[in-house]
Amino acid sequence: MVCLVCGSPEVVERLDVGSHPVSSFFLKEANAPERNFRLALGQCENCATIQIMKPVPHDALVPPYDWLFAREPEEHLDGVVDQIVALPGVTTDSVIGALTSKDDTTIDRFTRKGFKHSWRVTLDGDLGVKNPAANIETVQKLTTPERMSAIAARRGAADVLIVRHIMEHAEDLHAFIHGIAALVKPGGIIMVEVPDCTTSLRLNDYCMVWEEHSLFLTPETFAPLLTIGGFEPIRTDIYPLPFENSLVQLARKTGGPGPVRITEAARAQTGWLARYADAYEPARKELRARLERVRAEKGPIALFGAGHLACAFANFMGVTDLIDFVADDTPQKQNKFLPGARLPILPSAALAERKIALCLLALSINNENAVIGRNEAFTRTGGTFRSIFRASPRSVFAGEI
Ligand SMILES: [Zn+2]
Repeated sequence: MVCLVCGSPEVVERLDVGSHPVSSFFLKEANAPERNFRLALGQCENCATIQIMKPVPHDALVPPYDWLFAREPEEHLDGVVDQIVALPGVTTDSVIGALTSKDDTTIDRFTRKGFKHSWRVTLDGDLGVKNPAANIETVQKLTTPERMSAIAARRGAADVLIVRHIMEHAEDLHAFIHGIAALVKPGGIIMVEVPDCTTSLRLNDYCMVWEEHSLFLTPETFAPLLTIGGFEPIRTDIYPLPFENSLVQLARKTGGPGPVRITEAARAQTGWLARYADAYEPARKELRARLERVRAEKGPIALFGAGHLACAFANFMGVTDLIDFVADDTPQKQNKFLPGARLPILPSAALAERKIALCLLALSINNENAVIGRNEAFTRTGGTFRSIFRASPRSVFAGEI
């Protein structure tokens, strides 16, 4: 397959986690039909970028519900906005533009600093999308140079453009980057943020794989990408988080479109996906043995948090038959079933009521302590919390359970 980044035909498939449904398609009945997509990752032998072999079509990713939302980390945003404000040429008269609803809280930070001119691309007004459930998967597809040039002409090109957590979803990376470049004035600034897959690749955590992502980036493979759009990187920062760090690049539009500038630091990572893939089957076997032992010796197992990470863990690791249900108190998810695994979603009170022995947390590692604190009824009756993530201090993969 042709590399999404450098265009070379040298993307070698390494990891196949099987065929699975889209993880936002919560089932209304346990036996409802599902549409599966093969999920396999490859790595480019030329530029070392890890990527999905065949992106799931964007229209198959539009969720069937309009109450889903994604929460991205924000702790670093005040500091990033301060860095942008300090750049030469940025004043409170600058036009701040943004691409998706994930950028609204960054725009708010500029507004609070006295910036008076801002806009954000809207799905209905700017892109003509009427489905209220459409989101990132649709914006990435519609971010093309033609559409974005028209928006820039209408709204005024941005002096500073904010693009958080969408570039890694791009099915056609070159069209996407040329699209965002068209929103920025010559000499203007862009801020792009993506998740960092380094920790998952190092620790062999397969919850990294997600059908909505086309690119699985590291600081080294991310750093050169915006050169495709004629941007010169100013700085690339890693904001540490337990599961996926946030990678933020500030760059200035100094020229026109060009090829990606491949670095030696990126090329040095060419073996990474093969090594990660080699550890996949052993990890599945080890996990299965651990969970079978817990069920036999202690009692039933549940997951906590019905989202794409729970789907990845249960489905990709092949342990759905060892789990009784998923605890999640989101009202809209009650009485539905986790895609693929077809596990019922129940309120967290069911953990104690159903005498669960082991509850596996499938939510942000930073929220684990808060969730455990709210579920004393479960721990008082002898229940144990562990985490599905390798990077958590209470990982299910480490230590005695
Ligand atoms: Zn490549």
